[in-house]
This record gives sequence, structure tokens and C-alpha cells, in this order.
Amino acid sequence: MSVLTDLVAELNSGKLRIVDLTQPLGPETPVIGLPPQFGASPGVTMEVISKFDEKGPAWYWNTIQMGEHTGTHFDAPVHWITGKDLPENRCDTIPARRFVGPACVIDVTADVAKNQDFLLMPEHVVAWEKKNGGIPAGAWVLLRTGWSARTDGKSFLNVGPDGPHSPGFHKTASELLAKERDVLGVGVETVGTDAGQAGTFDPPFPNHTTMHGAGKFGLASLRNLDQLPATGAVVIAAPLKIVNGSGSPLRVLAIAPA
Ligand code: MN
Repeated sequence: MSVLTDLVAELNSGKLRIVDLTQPLGPETPVIGLPPQFGASPGVTMEVISKFDEKGPAWYWNTIQMGEHTGTHFDAPVHWITGKDLPENRCDTIPARRFVGPACVIDVTADVAKNQDFLLMPEHVVAWEKKNGGIPAGAWVLLRTGWSARTDGKSFLNVGPDGPHSPGFHKTASELLAKERDVLGVGVETVGTDAGQAGTFDPPFPNHTTMHGAGKFGLASLRNLDQLPATGAVVIAAPLKIVNGSGSPLRVLAIAPA
């Protein structure tokens, strides 16, 4: 298995590097807000079980509580009504092979700097492919927007009087990626894989509707996409094996050329 020997050697020599695409996960981690008629997903709370004290003189550990979709996290197809009856659609039943794939990084940072409600369109995907080659089946498509530079919760969530504003996908781009390119899923720097205003779209939350209806995944709240090449990196994004889980916080790693 020389490829694995080479992988380790190139990691050790620095020809390849591991890029951590994950936000820190803690009580400060911002979570998505929904209109008040809907259930709210709680952020992180941590409670010490023991810390070298009478409850545990030689050990430290915590109880953590949070919504499944907190911080850098994975969306499984069962998260959405369109994917609820698909086979192998939950965190514990998705085959592990499907957590690993090549990364195609579409950089729209300049567009988002001009328009925080920017939506990726099919023509952006096609233009990217003209330059970088076709998006292969089984790829993670990562939308690089620069949004992760907003490290404070207020500007990250960017909620105005008319709701949140952040970039995302037009439904026709989601359809192209899910159905014609057969991607593993899409990853974003924002709090969710739909645009901030997507609750007002038709259908509402079109990326969730399309991706999960096609059995595809989502990755939200990614960081460090600016450290990846447009092509040539491999992403490993494996959620916790939560029984019947709709998603999970996770550590997303990329293996990239130095
Ligand atoms: Mn989610």
C-alpha cells in the first residue's frame, strides 16, 4: 500500500499538510436563530463533572449539551423532510466511505464583499469548471465566502430587522451540484448551508431541500477555506455516530498540498 506510506511520509516531510476547517466549539459558539414559532436549537453548555476534586481526585471531565447542529457541523439527509425516507440517511447509517472526498473550493469572496446576500448560480459553477476542470462525482464542494473572518457572533449571524443576511446557493446551483455533478455535499463558512434570507425563498431553504432530498450532505461553519487550493485537497468530514442523528458537530480536516 505505497500510497499510504507515501501519505505519511509527505505529511512528515511537510509536502502535505493537515488544514483544520473547524471552528472552536464552546459556550461562545454562535447558533442559528429561527422565528419564534419554531423550536430553538441550544448552543453549548458545559458543566464540570469533576476536576481533580472530591468528585474525581485524579480526573477532569465535563458534561456537554448542545443542539446537533451547533458550530462546525454535519447535516445528514434525514435533517430535512425531503430526505427523511431515504436509505442510509442518518448519522449512524451513512456509510463511512461517504465522509471522504476531494474538495472543490469555489471562491466567491469578492462577490460576497460586494453583496452579503450573494447566491451562487449555475454559471458560477460552470465558470469555475472551465478554469479548474469538472467537479467529480463524490466531491465536497466548499463555498469560500470569507464569512469565517466574522469571528464575533453578531457579525457572523448578521441579523437585521428583516432577518439574517449571509451568502448561499441559488436553488438551481444546488440542483446542478446534487443531481448533475453527484457531489457528496456542500460546505459553507456561514451558520447554515442556506443563505441568510433563504427562509423567504421558494421553496424555503432551497439548498437543504435539494441536497438532502438527493441524499447529499451539508457542512456548516467551516473555517480556513482560504488555506485550500481550488482542487487537490481531500476532505474528511465524519459526524459522530449518533443513533438516528440528523447531524452532529465534527472536526473537519483537509489534507492539502503544502
Ligand atoms: Mn445544520
